[in-house]
Amino acid sequence: MAALARFTKSSSLSLSFSSIAKALYFYSSSSAAIAESNPYSQINNFTRKDPKDWNVQWVFLGCPGVGKGTYAGRLSKFLGVPHIATGDLVREELASSGPMSNQLAEIVNQGKLVSDEIIFNLLSKRLEAGEAKGESGFILDGFPRTVKQAEILEGVTDIDLVVNLKLREDVLLEKCLGRRICSQCGGNFNVASINVKGKNGNPDVSMAPLLPPSHCMSKLITRADDTEEVVKARLRVYNEKSQPVEDFYRSQGKLLEFDLPGGITESWPKLLEALNLDDCEEKQSAAA
Ligand SMILES: [Zn+2]
Repeated sequence: MAALARFTKSSSLSLSFSSIAKALYFYSSSSAAIAESNPYSQINNFTRKDPKDWNVQWVFLGCPGVGKGTYAGRLSKFLGVPHIATGDLVREELASSGPMSNQLAEIVNQGKLVSDEIIFNLLSKRLEAGEAKGESGFILDGFPRTVKQAEILEGVTDIDLVVNLKLREDVLLEKCLGRRICSQCGGNFNVASINVKGKNGNPDVSMAPLLPPSHCMSKLITRADDTEEVVKARLRVYNEKSQPVEDFYRSQGKLLEFDLPGGITESWPKLLEALNLDDCEEKQSAAA
């Protein structure tokens, strides 16, 4: 089956960085083969419309700390579409001392989720600004969090693909507790060195720490919402709310489940493979 998937993929000679529409159309037509060849991903009833109607209008799902910001950010650069993180929109609003900043600060510090109204307000402003600048497509990160939000989103745009990033909860907790920010330059780092044995037939998970340069080392701080209690509360709230959202997109055949096999070095090529974009990278580096 792996050989067949490889053969099918290499037969798509027209696949190039600029023809993502074709890549995605192709991706859908060979999804069964990909799902079997890549143990990290699963697609359920993935169905697609005419390729000429395609846009990269994707959603990245995943619990806080799973790294969806990192992967969504990388993929947006790779595909040339904006990465829109609702977390960033919230932080920008917090920093702006705008009309919603006090209300937001209270919610965030308690590890609660920001309301649909606030998020949708911030997101609408961002999408309108992007449209005015001539942006095409987007990767949404951290939105929608609820079925209600997914339904609102459905009314304003066509989501093509939803990538659900997953990571074992014990690994996730360790990773979240290792997060540090440099109080001087604002850089994001992680001091957790993760080495856990695989459970239930799954492979071991190793993640190297992301250590700061020496001049940042003494200035590292932990975010107020990265305590064990708050992280656990956040995960619990996330899991309760995300299940119906996953079901919503699964029933539409848009959900790609992706189990992160480890850190970014291992996971990034597997993710490209799951998206059938790995040939694009080969061409890109060959052209560089
Ligand atoms: Zn620094």
